[in-house]
Amino acid sequence: MSTLIVVGAQWGDEGKGKIVHLLGKKADTIVRYQGGNNAGHTVVFDGKKFVLHQIPSGILQPGRRCLIANGVVMDPWALRDEARFLESRKIRVKGRLFISAWAHLILPYHRYLDALRESGQGKIGTTKRGIGPAYSDKVGRVGVRLADYMDPPTFRTLVEQNLSAKAPLLKSLVSLAVLRNETFKDYDSLRRFFEPLMADTPALLQKDLAAGKNVLFEGAQGTMLDVDFGTYPFVTSSNPIAGAACVGSGVGPAAIDEVLGVVKAYTTRVGDGPFPTELKDSFGDALRERGQEFGATTGRPRRCGWFDAVVVRHAVRINGLTRLSLTKLDVLEGVDPIRVCVAYRIDGKVVKDFPASRRAQAEAVPIYKELPGFAGPVKGITRYQDLPDAAKKYCRFLETEVGVPMALISMGRSREETILLDKSFRWIP
Ligand code: GDP
Repeated sequence: MSTLIVVGAQWGDEGKGKIVHLLGKKADTIVRYQGGNNAGHTVVFDGKKFVLHQIPSGILQPGRRCLIANGVVMDPWALRDEARFLESRKIRVKGRLFISAWAHLILPYHRYLDALRESGQGKIGTTKRGIGPAYSDKVGRVGVRLADYMDPPTFRTLVEQNLSAKAPLLKSLVSLAVLRNETFKDYDSLRRFFEPLMADTPALLQKDLAAGKNVLFEGAQGTMLDVDFGTYPFVTSSNPIAGAACVGSGVGPAAIDEVLGVVKAYTTRVGDGPFPTELKDSFGDALRERGQEFGATTGRPRRCGWFDAVVVRHAVRINGLTRLSLTKLDVLEGVDPIRVCVAYRIDGKVVKDFPASRRAQAEAVPIYKELPGFAGPVKGITRYQDLPDAAKKYCRFLETEVGVPMALISMGRSREETILLDKSFRWIP
């Protein structure tokens, strides 16, 4: 038996989807443990592109079981659409996907509350899909869980309580009657849809672990968007970090064997908030074009910058990363020199640990180390020894700076475009 958590070690969009798809070959069960349909995991295989928002990317791996666990907030309409889309592309979902009875739902009033916040002064650049308000309701103890949704009298009572509290706040956007209609839209058919999918996911996981199966926990977003340890308040409303895999799926910490951090060879972020190594110049624009850095969910252009070892060291510590997977090395092909941020200067002092203060995060000035670029092509290379020397040096430098070994290096969107470095890593296919 082996268990692996895969997390993003930057601001998300590190390419976790591809890595989960690759390592998922060894998995029996793949689990999403947090976030909502704001995530967008892009997987390209057999020449087809799939963007998954709520369903674990493991669904693309035939025969594997996929769980949406309790830590996720789930939009019932969007989930049904995603499942239907996959079925229409001949990816079997029925009998393979199970959703926790304990998972909270995103309902239409959450989307309106999100839109309301994003239209005002508290704007943080969310996807406006209602994820933040759904988590607020969960913590505020007025949320609706799948098990409650499936029980009509309970659902009706909870909705009426919520509507009477929230409709007055939303009256500039939507009437109570419309809100009620939207919330109950397709209710009977959705219940029929979810009936075979709802499950006691902790019980399923416990059986898997007892039977010695391989379980992969798939994080969404990234460490720097973590509500506790990210660039608060410009964060997501859940904990993408590894510790949350236990809380968000109902397994104990002792069940976890390995934590893999996925990092891009440079850095990107979407939405507002601090980003010390951001390149606001034409080279930043060029990186965006070369790396195709546009959001999988919203199409928003991602902000681009150099690799930030301060950020990744923070991720190593917070997640207890045991290995790294470097992605998008191909995008740096021909870039010379390459810069890596090794520390910040804040208030005249050199700082090597990511600061908590929002002023310090916003004012941090990166201290860079320059490395020679690799002129030769790296795309298509599948053996480490065939990489240009400068590319090897770059990888080794990153490993040393962040203190964790690399198990994989990705240089393209497909599974084949990957160097499988560490054969002792039992998840390598
Ligand atoms: P995720 O949310 O972490 O799964 O990341 P996204 O799917 O939002 O973004 C990663 C994007 O980069 C996707 O379009 C992937 O197909 C693509 N990608 C992943 N790995 C590589 C790589 O090594 N090189 C290149 N050029 N693209 C990659």
